Amino acid sequence: MSKSPILLWFRRDLRLGDHAALTAACNSGRPVIPLFIHDEVVETHGAAPRFRLGLSVADLAKSLKDKGSRLILRRGKALDVLRDLIDETGAGAVYWSRLYDPDSKARDMDAKAALKDDGIDAKSFAGHVLFEPWTVETKTGGFYKVFTPMWKSVRGSDVPSALPTPGNIPAPDGWPTSDDLDDWQMGAGMQRGADILRTHCTLGETAASHRLGAFMAHRVAGYQKNRDLPAVDGTSGLSENLTYGEISPRSCWHSGWRALNDGKSDAEVFLKELVWREFAYHLAHHTPRIVSDNWKEDWDAFPWNTDERLAEVKAWKQGRTGIQFVDAAMREMYVTGTMHNRGRMIVASYLTKHLLCHWKIGMDWFADCLIDWDPCSNAMGWQWSAGSGPDATPYFRVFNPVTQLDKFDKDRAYAKRWLAEPYKNASDIARSYFDMIPKQWGMSPDDRYPDPIVAVDEGRKRALDAYENRNF
Ligand code: FAD
Repeated sequence: MSKSPILLWFRRDLRLGDHAALTAACNSGRPVIPLFIHDEVVETHGAAPRFRLGLSVADLAKSLKDKGSRLILRRGKALDVLRDLIDETGAGAVYWSRLYDPDSKARDMDAKAALKDDGIDAKSFAGHVLFEPWTVETKTGGFYKVFTPMWKSVRGSDVPSALPTPGNIPAPDGWPTSDDLDDWQMGAGMQRGADILRTHCTLGETAASHRLGAFMAHRVAGYQKNRDLPAVDGTSGLSENLTYGEISPRSCWHSGWRALNDGKSDAEVFLKELVWREFAYHLAHHTPRIVSDNWKEDWDAFPWNTDERLAEVKAWKQGRTGIQFVDAAMREMYVTGTMHNRGRMIVASYLTKHLLCHWKIGMDWFADCLIDWDPCSNAMGWQWSAGSGPDATPYFRVFNPVTQLDKFDKDRAYAKRWLAEPYKNASDIARSYFDMIPKQWGMSPDDRYPDPIVAVDEGRKRALDAYENRNF
């Protein structure tokens, strides 16, 4: 039996618990060299995701240190780095957890084929999803293109229990050199926003597990109703942890089932949301174009505005459209790196329907601003909102952001939390937006709140006219 080290290549699985690849490596009796690579995929990350990833890598490094292990950091093309480390350490195997977005998949497939050619045991493990995309099929074969039947088909499936954290991570005789995380400057793109954004992150495996526990204890009862109210802390907030793998979907799933079996019926809705996440990965696996092109090809003929320089796009990004729900949500994202799900639906509908701008403009801006950015859920969310995606909202349904605010933020608690200009005694958090944004945006809490850049009814009519005249 080989006693050569195993390289454990961490990516979006930055935890020690319920980690099949790590467990297998530790059980092998061989030394384990944990590794994170600032590779070609990380290079494409936007400012906030990269910043948040850096925090998560630091937290994982600390957890490994507490276990007497280390996290080796290297920068470069993944395959080159892996080959260099194999040369340096005599490693005979590389283990990792599978990912499903097109960029990660392309990198991993290349790496696996090349390493196998080199005679290395390159092995990928499940862990980022509940159900591998190729294991869930419709009755007639093929993957689900509509959510509800997929939910019905997987709801009662057997999901193995979460794996325990390995008691011991066997160390090699000598450690290879490592980069210094500070030298990577993961927060550089945040400009002056990093310090404020940091206060809104709930970071790392331990915090994620507490967050799940607190949600199940205090908030899951009431989730069905409260999850739609942006001013209420009614959801789990786990997306930033799930996206970096600080918690496993299996842990969330079993926790949800325990709550449901304890009589907390709203836990069913939470389980359903976890399956929306699965749906996004399965779609990206089977139809990778979802992250780059209209999922429904007949939308290619739609005359979207694609010019990012349009004043309307600028106003949308800067949270000054004059539509309170849109502006509050855009500012919430800029300050906290997350946005309430209802806000995401409203701002996406507003950009793609009222302003008739291409969903890719919105998807890319979210990819720059979200700390819970997920390439698959983000793409699905945008195409769902725009009408060009699978199981999309009917393209002719145009959310009215004014009546939506009346319905979901009756007393304006959310609008007041995020908008300084239209309300007296603006909150500190509303003011913190002005400390974060680039100075050249030229915005101040004392400005007059703008009139709508497009009247709600006019925008709706414009969208409906465009749909009626569409040539597809
Ligand atoms: P909870 O309500 O507590 O739900 C639990 C978990 O289920 C979430 O953490 C998430 O992992 C999953 N989930 C919930 N709703 C969805 C959904 N609609 N699609 C996929 N998974 C879901 N989610 C991301 O994680 N990253 C993104 O980049 C992202 N971009 C989006 C863009 C748009 C335009 C839209 C409409 C939605 C997007 N979502 C994205 C989905 C959703 O808004 C967030 O997952 C949710 O707001 C996260 O909050 P939470 O963790 O409190 O969710």
